[in-house]
Amino acid sequence: MGNPKAFLTIHRQEAGYRTINDRIHDFSEVEQTLNANDRKVQASRCMDCGVPFCHWACPLGNKPPEWNDALYKGDWESAYRLLNSTNDFPEFTGRVCPALCEKSCVLNLTEHEPVTNRENEAAIAEMAFKENYVKIREIPRNGRKVAVIGSGPSGLSVSNRLNMYGYDVTVFDKNESAGGLLRFGIPNFKLNKALIDRRLDIMEQEGIKFRYNSKVEVDNLPEGFDAYVIATGTPDARDLNVPGRELKGVYFALELLSQQNRLLAGVRFDEDELVNCKGKDVLIIGGGDTGSDCIGTAHRQGCKSVTQIEIMPKPPVGPEDPANPWPSWPRILKTTSSHEEGCVRRWDMNTNRFLGENGKLSGVEVESVSWKPNPDGGRPLMVKSGKPEIIKADIVFLAMGFLRPKHSVYPSNVFVTGDSANGSSLVVRAMASGHDTAKAVDNFLRSSDGAGKE
Ligand SMILES: Cc1cc2nc3c(=O)[nH]c(=O)nc-3n(C[C@H](O)[C@H](O)[C@H](O)COP(=O)(O)OP(=O)(O)OC[C@H]3O[C@@H](n4cnc5c(N)ncnc54)[C@H](O)[C@@H]3O)c2cc1C
Ligand code: SF4
Repeated sequence: MGNPKAFLTIHRQEAGYRTINDRIHDFSEVEQTLNANDRKVQASRCMDCGVPFCHWACPLGNKPPEWNDALYKGDWESAYRLLNSTNDFPEFTGRVCPALCEKSCVLNLTEHEPVTNRENEAAIAEMAFKENYVKIREIPRNGRKVAVIGSGPSGLSVSNRLNMYGYDVTVFDKNESAGGLLRFGIPNFKLNKALIDRRLDIMEQEGIKFRYNSKVEVDNLPEGFDAYVIATGTPDARDLNVPGRELKGVYFALELLSQQNRLLAGVRFDEDELVNCKGKDVLIIGGGDTGSDCIGTAHRQGCKSVTQIEIMPKPPVGPEDPANPWPSWPRILKTTSSHEEGCVRRWDMNTNRFLGENGKLSGVEVESVSWKPNPDGGRPLMVKSGKPEIIKADIVFLAMGFLRPKHSVYPSNVFVTGDSANGSSLVVRAMASGHDTAKAVDNFLRSSDGAGKE
Protein backbone atom coordinates (compact mmCIF):
# COMPACT_ATOMS: atom_id res chain seq x y z
CA MET A 1 0.00 0.00 0.00
CA GLY A 2 1.74 3.11 -1.26
CA ASN A 3 0.13 6.02 0.57
CA PRO A 4 -1.69 4.92 3.74
CA LYS A 5 -3.48 8.25 4.20
CA ALA A 6 -4.39 9.13 0.61
CA PHE A 7 -7.96 7.90 0.98
CA LEU A 8 -8.46 10.49 3.74
CA THR A 9 -7.29 13.48 1.74
CA ILE A 10 -7.75 12.73 -1.96
CA HIS A 11 -11.17 12.59 -3.58
CA ARG A 12 -12.24 10.30 -6.37
CA GLN A 13 -11.65 11.96 -9.72
CA GLU A 14 -13.20 10.50 -12.86
CA ALA A 15 -11.87 11.45 -16.28
CA GLY A 16 -15.44 12.22 -17.32
CA TYR A 17 -17.01 12.38 -20.75
CA ARG A 18 -16.43 14.72 -23.66
CA THR A 19 -19.00 17.53 -23.67
CA ILE A 20 -22.34 16.60 -25.15
CA ASN A 21 -22.07 19.19 -27.93
CA ASP A 22 -18.76 17.70 -28.96
CA ARG A 23 -19.49 13.98 -28.68
CA ILE A 24 -23.01 13.90 -30.10
CA HIS A 25 -21.73 14.48 -33.64
CA ASP A 26 -19.41 11.49 -33.86
CA PHE A 27 -19.04 7.87 -32.81
CA SER A 28 -15.65 8.23 -31.11
CA GLU A 29 -15.34 7.09 -27.49
CA VAL A 30 -17.14 9.44 -25.14
CA GLU A 31 -14.91 8.79 -22.13
CA GLN A 32 -11.77 10.85 -21.60
CA THR A 33 -8.51 9.90 -19.86
CA LEU A 34 -6.58 11.40 -16.97
CA ASN A 35 -2.91 12.20 -17.35
CA ALA A 36 -0.46 9.63 -15.94
CA ASN A 37 0.21 11.63 -12.78
CA ASP A 38 -3.46 12.12 -11.87
CA ARG A 39 -3.99 8.43 -12.55
CA LYS A 40 -1.26 7.52 -10.04
CA VAL A 41 -2.85 9.86 -7.50
CA GLN A 42 -6.16 8.05 -7.96
CA ALA A 43 -4.45 4.68 -7.50
CA SER A 44 -2.94 5.92 -4.23
CA ARG A 45 -6.45 6.05 -2.71
CA CYS A 46 -6.66 2.24 -2.60
CA MET A 47 -6.48 1.16 1.06
CA ASP A 48 -5.25 -2.41 0.43
CA CYS A 49 -8.06 -3.69 2.66
CA GLY A 50 -7.48 -6.82 4.72
CA VAL A 51 -10.55 -8.31 3.05
CA PRO A 52 -10.53 -6.90 -0.50
CA PHE A 53 -14.19 -6.92 -1.46
CA CYS A 54 -13.24 -5.59 -4.92
CA HIS A 55 -11.40 -8.84 -5.56
CA TRP A 56 -14.42 -10.81 -4.33
CA ALA A 57 -16.81 -8.84 -6.56
CA CYS A 58 -14.80 -9.09 -9.77
CA PRO A 59 -15.88 -12.21 -11.71
CA LEU A 60 -12.32 -12.53 -13.02
CA GLY A 61 -10.86 -12.33 -9.53
CA ASN A 62 -8.86 -9.23 -10.49
CA LYS A 63 -6.69 -7.90 -7.67
CA PRO A 64 -7.07 -4.10 -7.72
CA PRO A 65 -5.11 -3.52 -4.47
CA GLU A 66 -2.01 -5.09 -5.98
CA TRP A 67 -2.04 -3.29 -9.32
CA ASN A 68 -3.18 -0.01 -7.77
CA ASP A 69 -0.14 -0.16 -5.50
CA ALA A 70 2.21 -0.75 -8.44
CA LEU A 71 0.47 2.02 -10.37
CA TYR A 72 0.82 4.45 -7.46
CA LYS A 73 4.56 3.71 -7.37
CA GLY A 74 4.80 4.42 -11.10
CA ASP A 75 5.68 0.79 -11.91
CA TRP A 76 3.29 0.50 -14.86
CA GLU A 77 4.88 -2.70 -16.12
CA SER A 78 4.32 -4.57 -12.84
CA ALA A 79 0.81 -3.13 -12.70
CA TYR A 80 0.15 -4.60 -16.14
CA ARG A 81 1.66 -8.00 -15.25
CA LEU A 82 -0.53 -8.22 -12.13
CA LEU A 83 -3.63 -7.11 -14.01
CA ASN A 84 -2.98 -9.38 -16.97
CA SER A 85 -2.44 -12.41 -14.72
CA THR A 86 -6.20 -12.57 -14.16
CA ASN A 87 -7.57 -10.42 -16.99
CA ASP A 88 -6.65 -11.32 -20.57
CA PHE A 89 -8.28 -8.22 -22.11
CA PRO A 90 -8.15 -5.29 -19.65
CA GLU A 91 -8.50 -2.87 -22.55
CA PHE A 92 -12.10 -4.13 -22.97
CA THR A 93 -13.17 -4.36 -19.33
CA GLY A 94 -11.42 -1.07 -18.60
CA ARG A 95 -13.94 0.54 -20.93
CA VAL A 96 -17.19 -1.39 -20.73
CA CYS A 97 -17.22 -3.15 -17.36
CA PRO A 98 -19.86 -1.75 -14.99
CA ALA A 99 -17.13 -2.08 -12.35
CA LEU A 100 -18.70 -4.46 -9.88
CA CYS A 101 -15.48 -4.06 -7.88
CA GLU A 102 -16.10 -0.34 -7.36
CA LYS A 103 -19.56 -0.94 -5.93
CA SER A 104 -17.92 -3.28 -3.40
CA CYS A 105 -14.98 -0.99 -2.64
CA VAL A 106 -14.81 -0.12 1.06
CA LEU A 107 -14.53 3.53 0.04
CA ASN A 108 -17.98 3.16 -1.51
CA LEU A 109 -19.45 2.09 1.82
CA THR A 110 -19.53 5.41 3.62
CA GLU A 111 -18.16 8.05 1.29
CA HIS A 112 -19.53 6.75 -2.03
CA GLU A 113 -16.17 7.55 -3.55
CA PRO A 114 -14.73 4.17 -4.57
CA VAL A 115 -11.29 3.85 -6.12
CA THR A 116 -11.47 4.40 -9.91
CA ASN A 117 -10.51 0.77 -10.61
CA ARG A 118 -12.09 0.53 -14.05
CA GLU A 119 -10.42 3.65 -15.37
CA ASN A 120 -7.12 2.65 -13.74
CA GLU A 121 -7.41 -0.68 -15.51
CA ALA A 122 -7.89 0.97 -18.93
CA ALA A 123 -4.96 3.30 -18.24
CA ILE A 124 -2.66 0.41 -17.29
CA ALA A 125 -3.68 -1.51 -20.43
CA GLU A 126 -3.07 1.48 -22.72
CA MET A 127 0.32 2.20 -21.14
CA ALA A 128 1.24 -1.48 -21.60
CA PHE A 129 0.55 -1.30 -25.33
CA LYS A 130 2.28 2.07 -25.66
CA GLU A 131 5.42 0.90 -23.85
CA ASN A 132 5.46 -2.56 -25.49
CA TYR A 133 4.92 -4.49 -22.26
CA VAL A 134 2.48 -6.64 -24.25
CA LYS A 135 4.78 -9.19 -25.84
CA ILE A 136 4.12 -11.95 -28.36
CA ARG A 137 4.73 -15.20 -26.45
CA GLU A 138 6.50 -18.27 -27.85
CA ILE A 139 4.21 -21.04 -26.66
CA PRO A 140 5.30 -24.70 -26.68
CA ARG A 141 2.65 -26.86 -28.43
CA ASN A 142 1.16 -30.02 -26.97
CA GLY A 143 -0.19 -31.48 -30.23
CA ARG A 144 -3.89 -31.34 -29.30
CA LYS A 145 -6.51 -29.35 -31.23
CA VAL A 146 -9.52 -27.44 -29.94
CA ALA A 147 -12.28 -25.75 -31.97
CA VAL A 148 -13.99 -22.73 -30.45
CA ILE A 149 -17.34 -21.77 -31.99
CA GLY A 150 -17.94 -18.04 -31.48
CA SER A 151 -15.46 -15.20 -31.05
CA GLY A 152 -17.19 -12.95 -28.49
CA PRO A 153 -15.43 -12.19 -25.21
CA SER A 154 -16.03 -15.72 -23.92
CA GLY A 155 -14.72 -17.36 -27.11
CA LEU A 156 -11.70 -15.04 -27.21
CA SER A 157 -10.98 -15.64 -23.56
CA VAL A 158 -11.22 -19.44 -23.76
CA SER A 159 -9.09 -19.39 -26.93
CA ASN A 160 -6.42 -17.20 -25.39
CA ARG A 161 -6.13 -19.43 -22.32
CA LEU A 162 -6.13 -22.71 -24.27
CA ASN A 163 -3.53 -21.31 -26.64
CA MET A 164 -1.41 -20.35 -23.63
CA TYR A 165 -1.71 -23.94 -22.34
CA GLY A 166 -0.27 -25.14 -25.67
CA TYR A 167 -3.39 -26.25 -27.56
CA ASP A 168 -3.76 -25.60 -31.26
CA VAL A 169 -6.88 -23.39 -31.30
CA THR A 170 -9.14 -22.61 -34.27
CA VAL A 171 -11.99 -20.13 -33.77
CA PHE A 172 -15.03 -20.28 -36.07
CA ASP A 173 -17.42 -17.35 -36.32
CA LYS A 174 -20.41 -16.76 -38.52
CA ASN A 175 -19.58 -13.07 -38.77
CA GLU A 176 -17.02 -11.45 -41.05
CA SER A 177 -14.78 -10.55 -38.10
CA ALA A 178 -14.23 -11.41 -34.44
CA GLY A 179 -15.50 -9.85 -31.21
CA GLY A 180 -19.15 -10.91 -30.98
CA LEU A 181 -21.14 -8.22 -29.20
CA LEU A 182 -17.95 -6.29 -28.48
CA ARG A 183 -17.85 -5.55 -32.20
CA PHE A 184 -21.45 -5.89 -33.39
CA GLY A 185 -23.42 -4.80 -30.32
CA ILE A 186 -21.57 -2.33 -28.12
CA PRO A 187 -21.41 1.03 -29.92
CA ASN A 188 -18.09 2.52 -30.97
CA PHE A 189 -18.69 5.47 -28.66
CA LYS A 190 -18.23 3.03 -25.75
CA LEU A 191 -15.58 0.78 -27.30
CA ASN A 192 -13.36 1.71 -30.24
CA LYS A 193 -13.17 -1.35 -32.51
CA ALA A 194 -9.49 -0.75 -33.31
CA LEU A 195 -8.83 -2.11 -29.80
CA ILE A 196 -10.35 -5.46 -30.78
CA ASP A 197 -8.19 -5.58 -33.93
CA ARG A 198 -5.08 -4.76 -31.88
CA ARG A 199 -5.79 -7.71 -29.55
CA LEU A 200 -6.68 -10.08 -32.43
CA ASP A 201 -3.40 -9.28 -34.10
CA ILE A 202 -1.54 -10.50 -31.00
CA MET A 203 -3.69 -13.61 -30.69
CA GLU A 204 -3.06 -14.49 -34.34
CA GLN A 205 0.67 -13.92 -34.00
CA GLU A 206 0.62 -16.26 -31.01
CA GLY A 207 -0.90 -18.97 -33.16
CA ILE A 208 -4.71 -18.81 -32.84
CA LYS A 209 -6.46 -19.34 -36.19
CA PHE A 210 -9.67 -17.50 -37.03
CA ARG A 211 -12.19 -18.74 -39.60
CA TYR A 212 -14.75 -16.05 -40.45
CA ASN A 213 -18.07 -16.32 -42.29
CA SER A 214 -18.14 -19.85 -40.88
CA LYS A 215 -21.45 -20.71 -39.29
CA VAL A 216 -21.16 -23.98 -37.41
CA GLU A 217 -24.14 -26.15 -36.52
CA VAL A 218 -23.60 -27.41 -32.99
CA ASP A 219 -24.95 -30.85 -33.90
CA ASN A 220 -22.54 -31.03 -36.85
CA LEU A 221 -19.23 -29.89 -35.44
CA PRO A 222 -16.15 -29.76 -37.71
CA GLU A 223 -14.05 -32.91 -37.69
CA GLY A 224 -10.44 -33.21 -36.59
CA PHE A 225 -10.51 -31.63 -33.12
CA ASP A 226 -9.94 -33.20 -29.71
CA ALA A 227 -12.42 -30.88 -27.98
CA TYR A 228 -14.98 -28.22 -28.85
CA VAL A 229 -16.15 -25.09 -27.06
CA ILE A 230 -19.51 -23.55 -27.93
CA ALA A 231 -19.35 -19.81 -27.26
CA THR A 232 -22.20 -18.67 -29.45
CA GLY A 233 -23.81 -16.13 -27.09
CA THR A 234 -27.54 -15.45 -27.04
CA PRO A 235 -28.55 -15.02 -30.69
CA ASP A 236 -32.32 -14.65 -30.12
CA ALA A 237 -33.64 -11.32 -28.88
CA ARG A 238 -36.89 -11.28 -26.88
CA ASP A 239 -39.74 -10.26 -29.20
CA LEU A 240 -42.95 -8.34 -28.49
CA ASN A 241 -45.82 -10.11 -30.18
CA VAL A 242 -48.54 -7.47 -29.96
CA PRO A 243 -50.75 -6.25 -32.83
CA GLY A 244 -48.82 -4.26 -35.42
CA ARG A 245 -45.50 -6.03 -34.84
CA GLU A 246 -45.19 -6.54 -38.61
CA LEU A 247 -45.24 -2.80 -39.40
CA LYS A 248 -42.21 -1.30 -41.12
CA GLY A 249 -40.34 0.68 -38.51
CA VAL A 250 -40.34 -1.89 -35.68
CA TYR A 251 -36.84 -3.33 -35.22
CA PHE A 252 -34.79 -5.27 -32.74
CA ALA A 253 -32.16 -3.09 -31.05
CA LEU A 254 -29.31 -5.07 -32.57
CA GLU A 255 -30.60 -4.38 -36.09
CA LEU A 256 -29.73 -0.74 -35.41
CA LEU A 257 -26.59 -1.27 -33.36
CA SER A 258 -24.87 -3.93 -35.45
CA GLN A 259 -25.62 -2.09 -38.69
CA GLN A 260 -24.26 1.18 -37.32
CA ASN A 261 -21.05 -0.53 -36.22
CA ARG A 262 -20.71 -2.15 -39.64
CA LEU A 263 -21.30 1.20 -41.38
CA LEU A 264 -18.48 2.67 -39.31
CA ALA A 265 -16.29 -0.26 -40.38
CA GLY A 266 -16.92 0.67 -44.01
CA VAL A 267 -19.60 -1.91 -44.88
CA ARG A 268 -22.14 -0.59 -47.40
CA PHE A 269 -25.90 -1.26 -47.29
CA ASP A 270 -28.65 -0.65 -49.85
CA GLU A 271 -30.85 2.35 -49.08
CA ASP A 272 -33.87 0.15 -48.30
CA GLU A 273 -31.84 -1.93 -45.79
CA LEU A 274 -30.76 1.07 -43.74
CA VAL A 275 -32.11 1.37 -40.19
CA ASN A 276 -31.80 5.09 -39.64
CA CYS A 277 -33.23 7.51 -37.09
CA LYS A 278 -32.51 10.80 -38.87
CA GLY A 279 -35.36 13.26 -38.32
CA LYS A 280 -37.48 10.60 -36.60
CA ASP A 281 -39.34 10.29 -33.31
CA VAL A 282 -37.70 7.23 -31.75
CA LEU A 283 -39.24 4.96 -29.13
CA ILE A 284 -37.13 2.38 -27.33
CA ILE A 285 -38.92 -0.41 -25.50
CA GLY A 286 -36.74 -1.72 -22.68
CA GLY A 287 -35.03 0.34 -20.01
CA GLY A 288 -31.67 -1.43 -19.85
CA ASP A 289 -28.20 -0.93 -21.29
CA THR A 290 -29.04 -2.12 -24.79
CA GLY A 291 -31.83 0.47 -24.90
CA SER A 292 -29.39 3.09 -23.66
CA ASP A 293 -26.99 2.21 -26.51
CA CYS A 294 -29.88 2.76 -28.95
CA ILE A 295 -30.42 6.24 -27.46
CA GLY A 296 -26.82 7.29 -28.07
CA THR A 297 -26.90 5.83 -31.58
CA ALA A 298 -30.21 7.54 -32.43
CA HIS A 299 -28.78 10.89 -31.31
CA ARG A 300 -25.69 10.47 -33.47
CA GLN A 301 -27.87 9.61 -36.46
CA GLY A 302 -29.77 12.89 -35.97
CA CYS A 303 -33.10 11.78 -34.52
CA LYS A 304 -35.85 14.29 -33.68
CA SER A 305 -36.71 12.86 -30.25
CA VAL A 306 -36.04 9.75 -28.13
CA THR A 307 -38.29 8.15 -25.55
CA GLN A 308 -37.37 5.05 -23.58
CA ILE A 309 -40.06 3.06 -21.80
CA GLU A 310 -39.71 0.25 -19.29
CA ILE A 311 -42.43 -2.07 -18.04
CA MET A 312 -40.96 -2.39 -14.53
CA PRO A 313 -41.02 0.35 -11.86
CA LYS A 314 -38.37 3.03 -11.65
CA PRO A 315 -35.48 1.72 -9.52
CA PRO A 316 -34.53 3.67 -6.40
CA VAL A 317 -32.30 6.65 -7.02
CA GLY A 318 -28.81 5.98 -5.57
CA PRO A 319 -26.25 6.11 -4.25
CA GLU A 320 -27.50 2.92 -2.61
CA ASP A 321 -30.59 0.82 -2.11
CA PRO A 322 -31.20 -0.33 1.47
CA ALA A 323 -32.84 -3.46 0.01
CA ASN A 324 -29.50 -4.69 -1.34
CA PRO A 325 -26.81 -3.02 0.73
CA TRP A 326 -23.05 -2.85 0.20
CA PRO A 327 -21.05 -4.87 -0.82
CA SER A 328 -23.57 -6.36 -3.25
CA TRP A 329 -24.35 -4.76 -6.60
CA PRO A 330 -26.86 -1.94 -6.00
CA ARG A 331 -30.00 -2.17 -8.14
CA ILE A 332 -30.42 1.58 -8.45
CA LEU A 333 -31.31 3.97 -11.25
CA LYS A 334 -28.53 4.07 -13.82
CA THR A 335 -28.03 7.17 -15.93
CA THR A 336 -25.60 6.58 -18.78
CA SER A 337 -23.73 9.02 -21.01
CA SER A 338 -26.44 8.36 -23.62
CA HIS A 339 -29.23 9.30 -21.20
CA GLU A 340 -27.36 12.51 -20.44
CA GLU A 341 -27.49 13.35 -24.15
CA GLY A 342 -31.26 13.72 -23.93
CA CYS A 343 -34.13 11.28 -23.56
CA VAL A 344 -37.59 11.03 -22.04
CA ARG A 345 -37.57 8.06 -19.65
CA ARG A 346 -40.77 6.44 -18.42
CA TRP A 347 -41.34 3.42 -16.19
CA ASP A 348 -44.38 1.20 -15.44
CA MET A 349 -45.31 1.33 -19.14
CA ASN A 350 -46.81 -1.64 -20.96
CA THR A 351 -46.97 -1.74 -24.77
CA ASN A 352 -50.46 -2.65 -26.05
CA ARG A 353 -49.99 -2.38 -29.81
CA PHE A 354 -48.14 -0.73 -32.64
CA LEU A 355 -50.13 1.67 -34.81
CA GLY A 356 -49.48 2.39 -38.48
CA GLU A 357 -50.65 3.73 -41.80
CA ASN A 358 -50.04 1.95 -45.12
CA GLY A 359 -47.92 -0.69 -43.39
CA LYS A 360 -45.66 1.92 -41.76
CA LEU A 361 -45.35 2.60 -38.04
CA SER A 362 -46.82 5.90 -36.84
CA GLY A 363 -47.15 5.41 -33.08
CA VAL A 364 -47.40 3.02 -30.18
CA GLU A 365 -50.29 2.52 -27.77
CA VAL A 366 -48.91 2.21 -24.26
CA GLU A 367 -50.60 1.95 -20.89
CA SER A 368 -49.31 2.72 -17.44
CA VAL A 369 -49.33 -0.21 -15.03
CA SER A 370 -48.76 -0.91 -11.36
CA TRP A 371 -47.40 -4.03 -9.69
CA LYS A 372 -48.80 -5.97 -6.77
CA PRO A 373 -47.21 -8.81 -4.82
CA ASN A 374 -47.83 -12.28 -6.18
CA PRO A 375 -49.59 -14.43 -3.53
CA ASP A 376 -47.70 -17.44 -4.94
CA GLY A 377 -44.41 -15.63 -4.28
CA GLY A 378 -43.38 -15.38 -7.96
CA ARG A 379 -42.88 -12.33 -10.18
CA PRO A 380 -45.21 -9.46 -9.07
CA LEU A 381 -48.54 -9.24 -10.88
CA MET A 382 -49.09 -6.45 -13.39
CA VAL A 383 -52.26 -4.35 -13.09
CA LYS A 384 -53.16 -2.20 -16.08
CA SER A 385 -54.45 1.32 -15.36
CA GLY A 386 -57.14 1.20 -18.08
CA LYS A 387 -55.81 4.50 -19.43
CA PRO A 388 -54.05 3.82 -22.73
CA GLU A 389 -52.17 6.61 -24.46
CA ILE A 390 -50.43 7.02 -27.80
CA ILE A 391 -46.75 7.85 -28.15
CA LYS A 392 -45.95 9.17 -31.62
CA ALA A 393 -43.10 7.15 -33.09
CA ASP A 394 -41.64 6.70 -36.58
CA ILE A 395 -39.25 4.01 -35.46
CA VAL A 396 -39.23 1.58 -32.52
CA PHE A 397 -36.42 -0.54 -31.11
CA LEU A 398 -37.12 -3.61 -29.02
CA ALA A 399 -34.46 -3.83 -26.32
CA MET A 400 -36.03 -6.35 -23.95
CA GLY A 401 -33.19 -8.77 -23.48
CA PHE A 402 -32.28 -12.09 -25.04
CA LEU A 403 -33.62 -15.62 -24.75
CA ARG A 404 -31.46 -18.10 -22.91
CA PRO A 405 -30.23 -20.70 -25.42
CA LYS A 406 -31.33 -24.30 -25.01
CA HIS A 407 -28.66 -26.97 -25.24
CA SER A 408 -28.93 -30.68 -25.79
CA VAL A 409 -26.70 -33.17 -24.05
CA TYR A 410 -23.34 -33.05 -25.80
CA PRO A 411 -20.52 -35.61 -25.97
CA SER A 412 -18.02 -35.25 -23.12
CA ASN A 413 -15.49 -33.36 -25.28
CA VAL A 414 -17.97 -30.53 -26.01
CA PHE A 415 -18.13 -27.59 -23.60
CA VAL A 416 -20.43 -24.55 -23.48
CA THR A 417 -19.27 -21.18 -22.20
CA GLY A 418 -20.19 -17.50 -21.78
CA ASP A 419 -23.67 -16.16 -22.41
CA SER A 420 -24.55 -19.30 -24.33
CA ALA A 421 -24.14 -21.27 -21.08
CA ASN A 422 -25.37 -18.70 -18.56
CA GLY A 423 -27.76 -16.37 -20.39
CA SER A 424 -27.06 -12.78 -21.40
CA SER A 425 -24.79 -11.03 -18.95
CA LEU A 426 -21.65 -8.94 -19.01
CA VAL A 427 -18.34 -8.93 -20.86
CA VAL A 428 -16.45 -9.57 -17.63
CA ARG A 429 -18.66 -12.57 -16.79
CA ALA A 430 -18.30 -13.96 -20.31
CA MET A 431 -14.52 -13.68 -19.98
CA ALA A 432 -14.54 -15.31 -16.55
CA SER A 433 -16.65 -18.13 -17.92
CA GLY A 434 -14.09 -18.54 -20.72
CA HIS A 435 -11.31 -18.88 -18.16
CA ASP A 436 -13.21 -21.57 -16.26
CA THR A 437 -14.03 -23.43 -19.46
CA ALA A 438 -10.40 -23.38 -20.59
CA LYS A 439 -9.44 -25.04 -17.30
CA ALA A 440 -12.21 -27.61 -17.73
CA VAL A 441 -11.10 -28.43 -21.30
CA ASP A 442 -7.49 -28.70 -20.18
CA ASN A 443 -8.39 -31.00 -17.29
CA PHE A 444 -10.52 -33.13 -19.59
CA LEU A 445 -7.86 -33.49 -22.27
CA ARG A 446 -5.10 -34.12 -19.77
CA SER A 447 -7.12 -36.75 -17.96
CA SER A 448 -8.19 -38.38 -21.24
CA ASP A 449 -4.64 -39.38 -22.22
CA GLY A 450 -2.13 -37.40 -20.30
CA ALA A 451 -1.51 -34.74 -22.96
CA GLY A 452 -2.02 -31.06 -22.35
CA LYS A 453 -0.75 -28.44 -19.99
CA GLU A 454 2.45 -29.26 -18.13
C1 LIG B 1 -26.12 -3.77 -27.19
C2 LIG B 1 -25.36 -4.45 -26.10
C3 LIG B 1 -24.51 -3.69 -25.31
C4 LIG B 1 -23.81 -4.28 -24.27
N1 LIG B 1 -23.00 -3.51 -23.51
C5 LIG B 1 -22.28 -4.08 -22.53
C6 LIG B 1 -21.41 -3.29 -21.74
O1 LIG B 1 -21.29 -2.07 -21.91
N2 LIG B 1 -20.69 -3.91 -20.76
C7 LIG B 1 -20.79 -5.26 -20.54
O2 LIG B 1 -20.09 -5.77 -19.66
N3 LIG B 1 -21.62 -6.03 -21.27
C8 LIG B 1 -22.37 -5.48 -22.26
N4 LIG B 1 -23.21 -6.26 -23.01
C9 LIG B 1 -23.24 -7.71 -22.76
C10 LIG B 1 -22.02 -8.40 -23.41
O3 LIG B 1 -21.76 -7.86 -24.67
C11 LIG B 1 -22.24 -9.91 -23.50
O4 LIG B 1 -22.56 -10.41 -22.21
C12 LIG B 1 -20.99 -10.63 -24.03
O5 LIG B 1 -20.61 -10.11 -25.29
C13 LIG B 1 -21.24 -12.13 -24.14
O6 LIG B 1 -20.10 -12.73 -24.67
P1 LIG B 1 -20.16 -14.14 -25.43
O7 LIG B 1 -18.81 -14.37 -25.95
O8 LIG B 1 -20.74 -15.16 -24.52
O9 LIG B 1 -21.21 -13.94 -26.62
P2 LIG B 1 -21.26 -12.93 -27.85
O10 LIG B 1 -20.53 -11.68 -27.57
O11 LIG B 1 -22.70 -12.82 -28.20
O12 LIG B 1 -20.50 -13.69 -29.02
C14 LIG B 1 -21.03 -14.84 -29.64
C15 LIG B 1 -20.32 -15.06 -30.97
O13 LIG B 1 -20.73 -16.32 -31.48
C16 LIG B 1 -20.93 -16.21 -32.89
N5 LIG B 1 -21.84 -17.27 -33.30
C17 LIG B 1 -23.12 -17.45 -32.88
N6 LIG B 1 -23.64 -18.57 -33.44
C18 LIG B 1 -22.66 -19.09 -34.22
C19 LIG B 1 -22.57 -20.26 -35.04
N7 LIG B 1 -23.59 -21.10 -35.16
N8 LIG B 1 -21.43 -20.50 -35.71
C20 LIG B 1 -20.37 -19.64 -35.60
N9 LIG B 1 -20.39 -18.53 -34.83
C21 LIG B 1 -21.52 -18.27 -34.14
C22 LIG B 1 -21.47 -14.81 -33.06
O14 LIG B 1 -21.31 -14.35 -34.39
C23 LIG B 1 -20.64 -14.03 -32.03
O15 LIG B 1 -19.45 -13.55 -32.62
C24 LIG B 1 -23.95 -5.68 -24.04
C25 LIG B 1 -24.82 -6.44 -24.82
C26 LIG B 1 -25.52 -5.84 -25.84
C27 LIG B 1 -26.45 -6.64 -26.68
S1 SF4 C 1 -13.03 -6.33 -14.66
FE1 SF4 C 1 -14.67 -4.97 -13.88
S2 SF4 C 1 -15.16 -5.78 -11.81
FE2 SF4 C 1 -13.17 -6.66 -12.43
S3 SF4 C 1 -11.60 -5.24 -11.57
FE3 SF4 C 1 -12.02 -4.58 -13.70
S4 SF4 C 1 -13.60 -2.98 -13.53
FE4 SF4 C 1 -13.57 -4.14 -11.59
